[in-house]
Amino acid sequence: MKKLMAANWKMYKTVEEGVQTATDLMQLLTSDSLQDREVLLCPSFTMLGAVGPILSKVPGCFLGAQNFYPAGQGAFTGEIAPEQLKALGCTYALAGHSERRHVLDEPDEFIGQKIVFGLHSGLNMILCIGETIAERQAGKVEEVLARQLAMGLANALSMATAKTLAVAYEPVWAIGTGEVAGPAEIVAAHAFVRAQLVSLLPEYGQKIRILYGGSVKPDNAGTIIHLDNVDGVLVGGASLQAKSFSQIVLA
Ligand code: PEP
Repeated sequence: MKKLMAANWKMYKTVEEGVQTATDLMQLLTSDSLQDREVLLCPSFTMLGAVGPILSKVPGCFLGAQNFYPAGQGAFTGEIAPEQLKALGCTYALAGHSERRHVLDEPDEFIGQKIVFGLHSGLNMILCIGETIAERQAGKVEEVLARQLAMGLANALSMATAKTLAVAYEPVWAIGTGEVAGPAEIVAAHAFVRAQLVSLLPEYGQKIRILYGGSVKPDNAGTIIHLDNVDGVLVGGASLQAKSFSQIVLA
């Protein structure tokens, strides 16, 4: 499996700005330069339709959504459905990002519903998990990761494969803070996630991609991407500029 280098633009950029960044990024990346890498951009819903065609010019670049509501269609004001995302060219979606867990109070059960519904709808899903600093200091990292994985995948085990599912380990204390988990912390967490995946999904657990996220920058990406069980990265702040994200993708 190629390493998955994913960008989460969060609630940044107008359509015009997003189109410019995506255009600049595609000029810095070519299918030759990508080789063993795949690139995923998750911009705001507003610009999916404009950014998708730009990405599709470079093989190995994909469009993803940061969120959706787990229903086909209906009276869900303000929400967006997987079918609507797919119609705009999305092939991936995130679920369980720490900002949705901790700012928008999404519980594990709801995140699990999104994983099932997303897979059922034909989207490749990235389940984001990670402990808070309080949980780490209380020695609960493994307990938290095991619970978030088990509940996130509870009803998805028959649908998840190495292609359709990826997991992003993103320690909450490292997201947007400039504080990166050290190599030993990343290796330990990823080894634990790998063991849990193998136990939950014996057929695919060894191959499911595990991404690291949390203040990944051009100067630390080269170290992080080569650590054991690191199969990609999920990048917030440093993905907003084409130059810094291209340096991470090619690190
Ligand atoms: C993220 O949004 O998933 C993230 C990891 O953000 P940052 O790279 O800014 O820490």
